[in-house]
Amino acid sequence: MKTTSGKISNIQNSILGKIKLIGEKIILLIPQKNNVYSKIQIISNNNKITNSKKIIQVVDTSIFKSGDIIQVEPSGKITFLYECNSDSNLIFITNLCNCSCIMCPQYEQNKENFYERNEKLISMIDSKTEFLAFTGGEPTLIRDEFLALLNLCKSKLKKTKIEILTNGILLSDIEYVKEIMLINHPELSFHIPLYSDISSIHNEIVGSEGFYKTIKGFYNLAKFQQIIELRIVIHKQNFERLPQLAEFIYRNLPFVSHIALMGMEYQGNAMNNFDSLWIDPYDYNQILKETALILNQRFMNFSIFNHQLCVLDKSLWKFSRKSISSWKNINIKECNRCNQKDNCGGFFSTSKSHYSSHINPITELKVSK
Ligand code: SF4
Repeated sequence: MKTTSGKISNIQNSILGKIKLIGEKIILLIPQKNNVYSKIQIISNNNKITNSKKIIQVVDTSIFKSGDIIQVEPSGKITFLYECNSDSNLIFITNLCNCSCIMCPQYEQNKENFYERNEKLISMIDSKTEFLAFTGGEPTLIRDEFLALLNLCKSKLKKTKIEILTNGILLSDIEYVKEIMLINHPELSFHIPLYSDISSIHNEIVGSEGFYKTIKGFYNLAKFQQIIELRIVIHKQNFERLPQLAEFIYRNLPFVSHIALMGMEYQGNAMNNFDSLWIDPYDYNQILKETALILNQRFMNFSIFNHQLCVLDKSLWKFSRKSISSWKNINIKECNRCNQKDNCGGFFSTSKSHYSSHINPITELKVSK
């Protein structure tokens, strides 16, 4: 989530509010009881404070848009929980998880209850929002809260597609899946990782004996004809068997709607385990080509996420998507000379400078994708 910091005056507790621009003024509307809102103004650091009113001062006021929802901490930390101009907004359900993936970018395991915050957040989100992702941790772990938030989305955000990012382990319980189905949300999809066709390799990567439960989760969702995206994050531990994994998916999970072949984000646990994970994406081009061929020949719907075009073999460009969330997608200085900047997957700002050593601006006049 996008964050910034400010100078907070006369605010003692964490607050959640929605930005409203009124002329030149930036107002934070904070919901109180009975549809009443209190207001706090956000001003530039250059302005002097002349009274003891609650106020937030920031360096750059232009980052706030009408409709954004932010959380402000007494420390001055400002987190954008919802951005009206983004199509990659998410609801962070819990930081608890039943896996400990070697490449997990979220590695905090302190139990925090985000339920009340999320309830308020969903109530404030623009009802025209097209997509929202439920993520964590593992969102299905706090069953009652997860189901309650799904219900709330169904009633408040009738047109919003909800993407559930889950490891699928708890969905091996058919009764749980039935409970989700009983909510009868019209626009759900499930995004589940599978890292290998070999159970022990997958389990080693996720730090749990989850393989067969995840597979059962896939089947339980398929019984209810759910939209399922299968996600494969590619790294040193699993890249060699990508073609076998593609074959496995075709033979055992042909009902998945989409397969995402994803580049790594180096943050959290991924940084702690950097040496056992890092492989230059350029070095698995041939294997990615083989994998793409297998999937394409079998009419499986797939995409390549989080990769830079100049690193990918040209035959793979048509499968590449711009998939990194806008708030953490950057280009580097080499990209300034590139004519494919608008089509390129870009870089994770969170991955520091752990990028391929084959970044090479594309300067050909015409490039056919
Ligand atoms: S030079 Fe930059 S923008 Fe161009 S393809 Fe490579 S990574 Fe993408």
